[in-house]
Amino acid sequence: MSRRLTVSPSVAGSAPGTPRSRPPVGVLALQGDFREHAAVLTSLGADVVFVRRPEEVAQISGLVIPGGESSVIDKLARSFGVADAVVARIRGGMPVYGTCAGLILLADRVQGGIRGQQSFGGLDVSVRRNAFGAQTESFEAELDVPVLGEPPMHAVFIRAPVVTELGPKATALASLGDGTVVAVQQGGVLGTSFHPEMTGDTRFHQYFLDTVTARSSGG
Ligand code: GLN
Repeated sequence: MSRRLTVSPSVAGSAPGTPRSRPPVGVLALQGDFREHAAVLTSLGADVVFVRRPEEVAQISGLVIPGGESSVIDKLARSFGVADAVVARIRGGMPVYGTCAGLILLADRVQGGIRGQQSFGGLDVSVRRNAFGAQTESFEAELDVPVLGEPPMHAVFIRAPVVTELGPKATALASLGDGTVVAVQQGGVLGTSFHPEMTGDTRFHQYFLDTVTARSSGG
């Protein structure tokens, strides 16, 4: 399923006027709602690769890290031997988008993790897991996201993390009414506390794919 033909960039981009091949986008497919992300990305015309092994990390130009359970994804990523490859690509500037558990995995600092829980890092933020507690495990909100324009995004939060500290390298993209930051960006690294893959609003995925395309064509 994860095998794909690769087209060498020198061939794909050779003749003037020939459309470039689409840069392949990975979805980390160890646990969580990776199928939903793949469906959204495919609907937007992306060439999707399910990523479970280091060889697959080498093929991709961008990576989505799904919602799920961050401690499980962390453990599986390390035991499948894919974590170091992901960290190296993020440090090398590959665009990455994480939703919910994916945001936790992209945070440089995690509060409320299980013992020994690690993250890939890439966002100069602290996030708190399960920040809304047992009283408010799930809720929905209309969020203004200025980089996406109008209308506000209908956002679904499920045992969601929040950004508790925004370091100088990261920018807030959206906040709840009380100022709690729930979407962040740092260069090509993007994270949301909520799940656009579940609501049919494809603007965050399109924003991410635009970043992948811009960066893989040297923009
Ligand atoms: N609470 C989960 C975690 O800590 C995240 C929940 C989600 O991805 N919907 O990983």
